[in-house]
Amino acid sequence: MEKFDAASNIQDLQYFGEFGGVNPSISDSSTYTFLSAKSMIDTFEGNTDGCYLYSRHSSPINLYLSEALAKLEGTESANVTASGMGAITSTLLQLCKAGDHVISSRTIYGGTYAFMKNFLPGLNIQTDFIDINNLEKIEQSIKPNTKVIFCESVSNPLLEIADIKALSVIAKKYNLKLIVDNTFSPLSIAPNFLGADVTIHSLTKFINGSSDAIGGVICGSQEFINNLKDVNSGACMLLGPTLDSLRAASILKNLRTLHIRIKKHSENALFLAESFEKEGLTVKYPGLKSHPQHENYSEIINKEYGYGGLLTIDVKTAENANKLMELMQNENLGYLAVSLGFYKTLFTASGSSTSSEIPEDEQKEMGLSKGLIRFSIGLDHDIERTFKKMKECMIKTNVL
Ligand SMILES: *Cc1c(COP(=O)(O)O)cnc(C)c1O
Repeated sequence: MEKFDAASNIQDLQYFGEFGGVNPSISDSSTYTFLSAKSMIDTFEGNTDGCYLYSRHSSPINLYLSEALAKLEGTESANVTASGMGAITSTLLQLCKAGDHVISSRTIYGGTYAFMKNFLPGLNIQTDFIDINNLEKIEQSIKPNTKVIFCESVSNPLLEIADIKALSVIAKKYNLKLIVDNTFSPLSIAPNFLGADVTIHSLTKFINGSSDAIGGVICGSQEFINNLKDVNSGACMLLGPTLDSLRAASILKNLRTLHIRIKKHSENALFLAESFEKEGLTVKYPGLKSHPQHENYSEIINKEYGYGGLLTIDVKTAENANKLMELMQNENLGYLAVSLGFYKTLFTASGSSTSSEIPEDEQKEMGLSKGLIRFSIGLDHDIERTFKKMKECMIKTNVL
């Protein structure tokens, strides 16, 4: 196989606007006319390509963005959604029905965890949360009614790396679908080529990169994407997590610079991770030799894009974390905010914010300390200066 080059594949996509504009036109319509009644019926039945029916089903710009994201992940097809959670919940509800069982990594995005833990049982869908690197336990937990294995390629917030290849071998053996949330590692990892059946992103993060929009995408086989959009039984069609055309257009424009941004996020994050580790801090970053899955990860990533923009530093107590984050914000080094993938560094104490849905005893078991600060490193031009200023903040707050 030729080397998979997502950025060049996206570059080759050419979408002109209606009047020769360099950007594709945004369809400002929720519904579309037909020249004949017959072609309307055919479109309803999914038989006509290039005809639009109603924008909850599809719209020109949403199809362009979906196509570009299928190129990003190397999948046959994709469907954009109004949020990352819209993509995750639609996928799970498409694949699992009452009485089914899910196996999920225990370190996942708080919203995904809450959906599986609190919402799905109401539909009689149960989930077992398991250490994603304990492949034996995962295999032992498979039941006759298990339908999916769910994980994040790089987990939130602990930055554990899933062995997607090994998980896909297990999934295939038991005829399960492997769903991978790749939000933390676009371009660096392509789960589809490691055996994932469905790859999901929150577009809200790195892919859009401007912290001005919410969006999501489901990438997979043509058959699965058609199922999701089926007018009679598709979760994306019937639950209605439709991305607005205006937003799709702005996300598509931002996607065009993703390859440049990811390189800079990774370069800056690696520099800070190495520098803070040298200072004696407890740093977790997949690009550090001290990271437990560093070697495995190095084998599967596209090195050009590095080890990603996220790192964590454990400053032991919530009090330390809060003092340090407030000072860094006052010094204009970043913002005390959830989310990630912004041009500016964002930091949160995950245990008390984005992962607060996870009960305290479970947080402890998975190694989620109250003093754990998750950093999404920004696109700072002079990262050495940033390091020096952050170090001063750490000295002032007695973290260093
Ligand atoms: C943010 C995030 C989500 C949810 O995405 P939204 O766009 O906020 O709905 C899912 N998974 C991961 C890993 C995330 O970081």
